[in-house]
Amino acid sequence: MKIAFIGLGNMGAGMAANLVKAGHTVRAFDLSEVALGQAKANGCDTFPTAKEAVQGAEAVVSMLPNGGIVSRVFTTDVIGNAPQDAILMDCSTIDVATAREVEKAAADAGYAMVDAPVSGGIAAASGGTLTFMVGGSEEAFARAEPVLAAMGKAVIHAGSAGAGQAAKICNNMLLGIHMIGTCEAFTMAQKLGLDPQTFYDISSVSSGQNWSMTSYCPVPGVGPQSPADNGYKGGFATALMLKDLKLAMEAAESAGMETPLGAHAKALYEKFAEGHSDLDFSAIIKTL
Ligand code: NAD
Repeated sequence: MKIAFIGLGNMGAGMAANLVKAGHTVRAFDLSEVALGQAKANGCDTFPTAKEAVQGAEAVVSMLPNGGIVSRVFTTDVIGNAPQDAILMDCSTIDVATAREVEKAAADAGYAMVDAPVSGGIAAASGGTLTFMVGGSEEAFARAEPVLAAMGKAVIHAGSAGAGQAAKICNNMLLGIHMIGTCEAFTMAQKLGLDPQTFYDISSVSSGQNWSMTSYCPVPGVGPQSPADNGYKGGFATALMLKDLKLAMEAAESAGMETPLGAHAKALYEKFAEGHSDLDFSAIIKTL
């Protein structure tokens, strides 16, 4: 297929490269010359504007920083310039309301569109092992699925427009909460005289077991390799965790519900992000 790809940063670069590897022709656009140079080196055709990149495309994929940018790119560049039978996919993490607005604008103009945010970081993007959570009609999902499958290990239909973003922020709110809880438990175990490895050996096969502990342990030298073993560099930046927790709090407010633990996790990450926004989010253990 001819696939336009907009936003080839940390995540988009690897995703677009995997579409090339799968045999697709990728028409890349990014505001950054560096990103475009990388895209070219990875086998993409590059274009000076988004409008030109989407012309003649059978599918459009975007991986952009936030909802405002996604909305602008789709309403000014994609809708009206991409062929009407192109399937539109936004893989960025954005707020549910904007995802629904953009999908409605696309539908009003006759396009099928899905929101398809991802779980998995930069390594999963370049390794093609992302999980996509997809919001949109059954028909739009069926058309998006083969394209997304070339970039991931799982593509799951979450429901109607915006449902992918809803799944993503509920998941990441839980991730923020259990990371902080895991950090607290390890720190307290140590203060009570337990060796961290011994606590891991016990808790990882007991009811405290969770992903932050057994897949991404915040304590160096314990559990499988994780950013803690690399000075908390790489991985999932604190700034991105904070972004997702802010989106989760906005969504909770719009749903008229209180999320006391989510709100507390957001407050703790907000404080930690001052001066540490580039560090992996598990580095919050340093504050305890
Ligand atoms: P990034 O900043 O590295 O990449 C974004 C790219 O978009 C940049 O290259 C930038 O130049 C480009 N861009 C910005 N405005 C543009 C415009 N108007 N037109 C074209 N290009 C434009 O960010 P990233 O880490 O790749 O994240 C992208 C999205 O993926 C975000 O929504 C983020 O929340 C989500 N995400 C990131 C991770 C991660 O680990 N990095 C994990 C899951 C989800």
